[in-house]
Amino acid sequence: MDPIIFDNSYARLPEQFYARQAPVPVAAPGPIRVNHQLAKQLGIDVNWLDSEAGTQVIAGNAVPPGSEPLASVYAGHQFGGYNPQLGDGRAVLLGEILSLEGRRFDLQLKGSGPTPYSRGGDGRSPIGPVLREYLVSEAMHRLGVPTTRALAAVTTGEKVQRDESYPGAVLARVASSHIRIGSFQYFAARRDTDSLSLLSDYIIDRHYPDARNSDNPILAMLEAIISQQAQLVARWQLLGFIHGVMNTDNILVCGETIDYGPCAFMDQFNPDQVFSSIDHAGRYAYRQQPNIAHWNLSVLAQALLPILDSEQQRAIALAQKAINTFPAQFLLANTQGMADKLGLQAIEEGEDTALVEDLWQLMAEHALDFTLTFRRLADLADKQTEGKSNVGDLFEFPDDAQPWLERWHTRLAREKTSSKARQALMYNNSPAFIPRNHLVEAAIVAATDRDDLNPFNQLMDTLENPYRYGKALALFATPPSPDQVVRQTFCGT
Ligand code: AMP
Ligand code: MG
Repeated sequence: MDPIIFDNSYARLPEQFYARQAPVPVAAPGPIRVNHQLAKQLGIDVNWLDSEAGTQVIAGNAVPPGSEPLASVYAGHQFGGYNPQLGDGRAVLLGEILSLEGRRFDLQLKGSGPTPYSRGGDGRSPIGPVLREYLVSEAMHRLGVPTTRALAAVTTGEKVQRDESYPGAVLARVASSHIRIGSFQYFAARRDTDSLSLLSDYIIDRHYPDARNSDNPILAMLEAIISQQAQLVARWQLLGFIHGVMNTDNILVCGETIDYGPCAFMDQFNPDQVFSSIDHAGRYAYRQQPNIAHWNLSVLAQALLPILDSEQQRAIALAQKAINTFPAQFLLANTQGMADKLGLQAIEEGEDTALVEDLWQLMAEHALDFTLTFRRLADLADKQTEGKSNVGDLFEFPDDAQPWLERWHTRLAREKTSSKARQALMYNNSPAFIPRNHLVEAAIVAATDRDDLNPFNQLMDTLENPYRYGKALALFATPPSPDQVVRQTFCGT
């Protein structure tokens, strides 16, 4: 039997959607890591994936039977400026796989060589960005955030030239699909309404089949994408995740997080935090993310205007109405998530809202560690667990926080849930482990400079259970010392 069973729907779309492109072979592939859990879910033979033959396929040296490799085309707004022609410049879609539960997933190789959309780039990736994407995307998945995933990573045995020479690597990425807001923009800008309709039909069939039953399926699809995006960005905010490059070509319409280039989780809370070295204006700062998502969705709505309604004014009115629902949807998702983190059934307008705002204020004023603030609150939610394995050794609230903590305890006393149940809920919403930048950095340095994958593998093992804290793993939950703080991140190109 073939090691991977493909069923390629995107490759059946007409040729204006992609360029046929095989991965370009590399000198000497070697394994980095295989994601057994994901492989099983996809019905891929784990032993094969672990073997030399599997490594060759992930490296792009062998195209497996049933694969129809292609590079997809798209456009996009990058930092607010429109670029009419982007596309997979360092990636190819091998094809689609139906998971054991019958869900369809893309299998893509990233760093697999140049394509017609490389625009002068080499189509390759250094090992650093591959490890970063593996760690952060898989951590996000374990944290319950919709995201692309990492099936496997391999080294290429070749060097990649950037500011220095680095070992090359390839990541096998899995996504519910790789279709972006920029994919719609590409056809809209060309006034290719037929392709726009085809793409919308494709997305409705693949991701939003319920939209088909609506009077206006295109509008229903737009509304569904808006809802998904509101939920997604709320999840990011509640974890202190900063995407860093929310260009419209990096926003998937299936609602999964994609592009782990300059991303970073915050250590100390600062709403204006930016990490990306190229984001000089702070366009994609933490506090801006909901606004940018809203803006990106308005770009999608605009691209859909020609097929939303035959009459332009009506199309604009429909689009506007849909877009206007975003802030309230985001707020609702964010507030519900915050209630879970604080151990409350609901956050009521008034006293509760002030409680939440004052917590953010306190965190900002004292530059409290984002992750440990919420984790410590979970520790404190049940007096019975005093002395149990908690993060008290790593983090304690400052004296200035005592009045706020008293207010919170008073508020908790009015809740109907038991403190035990409440604490369990809080623990499940406030991880002990996030991919801390200094640990990600250390893992990358060890792999790049010393061929040592142990720090990467240990960190990944820990991130697979982000809510399960034990003192033996304290190092992975500890914030960086001043000399370990990572202040800037760089796009993985
Ligand atoms: P990103 O900033 O990762 O969203 O990439 C923006 C565009 O640049 C995409 O079309 C990528 O495919 C392309 N790109 C990035 N790095 C490379 C590379 N090393 N070679 C070719 N194309 C690249
Ligand atoms: Mg991208």
